[in-house]
Amino acid sequence: MAKVLLIEDTRTLGLTLEVSLKAQGHEVYWADCIAAARELLKQVHPDLFILDLGLPDGDGLELCVEIRNGGSIAPILILTARDSLYARIEGLSAGADDYMTKPFELPELVARVDALLRRQRWHGAGERACVGLLEIDFRRHQAWSKGELVPMTELEVKLVRHLLDRKGHPVSREELLTRVWEQDASTQTRTVDVFIGRIRRYIEQDPTKPKHLLNVRGVGYRLVTDPKVDDL
Ligand code: CA
Repeated sequence: MAKVLLIEDTRTLGLTLEVSLKAQGHEVYWADCIAAARELLKQVHPDLFILDLGLPDGDGLELCVEIRNGGSIAPILILTARDSLYARIEGLSAGADDYMTKPFELPELVARVDALLRRQRWHGAGERACVGLLEIDFRRHQAWSKGELVPMTELEVKLVRHLLDRKGHPVSREELLTRVWEQDASTQTRTVDVFIGRIRRYIEQDPTKPKHLLNVRGVGYRLVTDPKVDDL
């Protein structure tokens, strides 16, 4: 199951896509213009985008560039009537991962969405991850620190996963609260610090001098898998 942000202004098509994607078990967010998509993106971090180009308030390509500049690595599938070779190249150059032209066959779209999500999982945090002394098997919900099984909680695992998904980029406490705890960001930012402290004990050689789970002053935290190649 993935969070899909669908940006499509044709109502009938939007409805068909929403129904089909939901039938595949995905959580679907639907925006009918660029402004609505921007609003949704303040709260949702989609696992995949389906992006129309001809939108009432602008060109979907702008949004495509914006999504990439915002640091999202989620796959973007452009779904458009523009079928020239130039348009395809332009779309892929703007940061899209796949390009489909209308009219299209629904089963093909569903198959492409699945393929993109599979690839994303593969390149993303994956089923297992190693950070510092910590190793996590996300599928089996097991974790080891220095080779020994440790009792990590569901929330701790989810927190590591979220930080890993952001690939070393800074993540605010507010974002962590909304995304990991699914709580109102205005309360309890201290909770995040407490959890970070706990996770550091599993990850860091010396939790008082973290090399992986780093403070970002005035923002929050970022998680670096390999400090040697950290170029942020
Ligand atoms: Ca359109």
